[in-house]
This record gives sequence, structure tokens and C-alpha cells, in this order.
Amino acid sequence: VLEVRGVVKRFGEHTVLRGIDLTVHPHEVVVLIGASGSGKSTLLKTVNLLEQIDDGQIFLSGADISDPRADADRVRARIGVVFQHYNLFPHLTVLANVTLAARRVFGTPRAEAERTGLALLQRIGLGDKAREYPDRLSGGQQQRVAIARAIATDPELLLLDEITSALDPQLVGEVLDLVRELKASGSTIVMATHEMSFARRVADRVVYLKDGVIVEAGPPEQIFERPERPETREFLRRLS
Ligand code: ATP
Ligand code: MG
Repeated sequence: VLEVRGVVKRFGEHTVLRGIDLTVHPHEVVVLIGASGSGKSTLLKTVNLLEQIDDGQIFLSGADISDPRADADRVRARIGVVFQHYNLFPHLTVLANVTLAARRVFGTPRAEAERTGLALLQRIGLGDKAREYPDRLSGGQQQRVAIARAIATDPELLLLDEITSALDPQLVGEVLDLVRELKASGSTIVMATHEMSFARRVADRVVYLKDGVIVEAGPPEQIFERPERPETREFLRRLS
């Protein structure tokens, strides 16, 4: 689904991504871990074309989306994104948030978009909140709506950046359960997280980033139980 090749990103003098190579296969869940500032969010933003890269290439389902001639809006329509702070539109109902992209980007008729949106909200247990405004929902519910909005148009790839880090601990579980359900239903996901227990449970592959370099990548059993690189061991040791 996704192939990142030799991606370099600089902010002025500061090189934040130093030649990232990463291939994500269909239905795979790849979890990015690493210290604050290691480049996880920047990598996700380059994939979503929110940041331009300075070198390398990014392919989505075979097409070079890092080509400056690529249509960024069309690329973004194929990628679902959820960030740390639930960025729902406060002046729109939950259902309107979930159906917005289908209606605006794909021109889906309102009735059809609402049928799909309601089914999706029911699936995540929020069918009864469809007509509410986001500020009437808990943080965990809002974040689940943000995920529903991201998957409403059936994206090829889902990017999740620290989606639980702004939540109260008791609300984290319901959001993580939803991600596990998406995984079970076959979504292809790249997510950045500081929740190691979750990375362990949901990842097919864990990628450890340090200072803009992939130090080690492998199945969670490798990374968490027998990391091959001393840097990985050191990072995990400091967390525990
Ligand atoms: P965290 O775990 O805290 O979310 P991260 O791994 O997501 O960290 P990034 O947000 O990707 O890290 O940041 C990587 C580096 O790039 C940091 O040093 C940051 O200061 C820098 N950086 C990110 N965005 C910009 C920007 N727009 N302008 C300049 N520097 C930036
Ligand atoms: Mg980040």
C-alpha cells in the first residue's frame, strides 16, 4: 500500500528524517515508536503531504505521491488521518462531521452519505450521538468519532498520530479497542504512539525511530522481548 524510499526532511539546518525506508503491506498495522522529537509525526505528515520532502520518494498503491505534480487533495482523499487532538468541527453535528468528506470530496448525495455515516456510528457504538454536537461527547467518544470520520470514505491507508495521548486514562481503552477492531476488519494502519502496551498488542511490525533514522524494525516480540540493537534496548529500558 505504502512505500517510503530514502525520505529526507529538513527544517532549516535541522535534518529531521535522514533517509527513511519503510514499506507497509495491505492489512498491515505498523507502529512507530521513539522518543519525543525523533520524527514520528513528521514522517506521518510527509505521507499525507502536509510536509514536503527534501529527498526520496513516497508511493501510495504504486503511484509516486511525492512527485510535485501529484494532486495533494486527491492523495489526501485516499488517506484517513487522526491526530492527537480530536479535530472535529465544533459547529457541525457528529453525523455532519462523519459525512463531510464523502459529501464535499466525493460528491456523495446527502441521504446516502448519512446512511453510511449512521451505520458507521452504530458500529462504533455512537449511533445515538449522531445529532449531538462534539462538545456534548466525552474525549474518548470524540476521538472515536474522529476515527469514524477518517474511515468514512474507505481510505486505502489510515494514519494515526498519538490518538490517545490527550485522553484521560480511563478513556484510552475504548479508543484502542476501536483500533483493534479496525485491524481485525482489515484496515492498513500506520500509527505513532507512546503506549508501548498497545503497540505490543496491535502491531504487526514495530518501527523504532531515533533522531530521524529507523534503528530497528520487526515484530513486537522482537522489539519488546529481544531487541537486536543496543539503542532499542536503551530506549525501552528508560521507559520501564
Ligand atoms: P513526539 O513524540 O513528541 O510527538 P515526534 O517523534 O512526533 O515527537 P516530530 O514532531 O516529528 O517528533 O519532530 C521531529 C523534529 O522536527 C523535532 O525536533 C521538531 O522540533 C522538529 N519539527 C517538527 N515540525 C517542525 C516545523 N514545522 N518546523 C521546524 N521544526 C519542526
Ligand atoms: Mg509526534
